[in-house]
Amino acid sequence: MATINDTTLRDGEQTAGVAFTDDEKIAIAQALDRIGVPELEIGVPAMGPAEIEIIRAIAGLGMGTTLMVWGRMCEPDIDAAARCNIDIANLSLPVSDIHIEHKLRRERDWILKRIELLIPRALDLGMEVSLGGEDSSRADMDFLLRVVEAAQKAGARRFRFADTLGLLDPFDTYQRIRALRGAVDIEIEIHAHNDLGLATANTLAAIRAGATHASTTVNGLGERAGNAPLEEVVMALRHLHGVDAAIDTRGLSAISQLVASASGRPVAANKSIVGEAVFTHESGIHVDGLLKHAANYEHFSPAELGRQHLTVLGKHSGSHAVKDAYARLGIVLSNDEARRMLDKIRCHAMFAKRAPDAAELTFFYLDGATRPPLPV
Ligand code: MN
Repeated sequence: MATINDTTLRDGEQTAGVAFTDDEKIAIAQALDRIGVPELEIGVPAMGPAEIEIIRAIAGLGMGTTLMVWGRMCEPDIDAAARCNIDIANLSLPVSDIHIEHKLRRERDWILKRIELLIPRALDLGMEVSLGGEDSSRADMDFLLRVVEAAQKAGARRFRFADTLGLLDPFDTYQRIRALRGAVDIEIEIHAHNDLGLATANTLAAIRAGATHASTTVNGLGERAGNAPLEEVVMALRHLHGVDAAIDTRGLSAISQLVASASGRPVAANKSIVGEAVFTHESGIHVDGLLKHAANYEHFSPAELGRQHLTVLGKHSGSHAVKDAYARLGIVLSNDEARRMLDKIRCHAMFAKRAPDAAELTFFYLDGATRPPLPV
């Protein structure tokens, strides 16, 4: 079991240049709730009254999800979070020496004192607390163990292990989470960033090591290279680890489009799981194998995402696929004609950078049928 905490509305919106309208925020929250995402991190109350207002509006929708907000581990942020009517405040505190010394200009003991002092304060205001360990990846491991023990003692329900700079690999992630898991009983959330393209891999490693929760964002939106994509984590957990995140994956494509449009960040055609082209096949060998037995070239069915695989004609098509495509247009090709059409399709693909449509295929055929072949 792994519990997804989707932070599209917080870390996702922290992407440089991205800001959602209130209507977009509400639509995204409701869409995630509808497919069963159990937790949502929905904003940063310390940003001010407008942010608090939209957070309160989402909290007032009566959704089934647990709601979290993000703040720093300080009095003003805790007080702002207390005005939001949410379930959990993730209170962020740097835990690496580089951040403690060069950002806060403090010492390790000061960090532990903040935890002892401020977590009870947040609890008194009626919120549950997740301690967000900023830059956990670079923290001294012995100190990090003291941090999580202090968080547990102070009453935190969760520790968020933030790979803030996205610098871990799955092996290091596993070891660090394993060590934390052995030290405390509270929930552990992995918050991975994708700077090296490893956010999903690190998230899976953390869950295998005992993390109970995973931060994700739709399309992997988030600061810099973004966070672990919701769609990748959910599908990889299901198909690689046999772990059910209890999310209706058939809704992921529509949510991906919604977030792409609200964020102004289009989804690459080859983006895993939700990209337009990830179930499209062209090469003769693959199309032939797929038609014989889908599992030859498909690890999971696109139907899990409410999608279908698609075959297109292009440079790598075989004459079988060409004949099939023309047959669907009511044109029966001889072997010779199929080869000639394939030449035209290849030429088209090189210059147009896309598959030909029905009108173009018809044109290739008529063009070839009304003129003698050019002399070679
Ligand atoms: Mn982050």
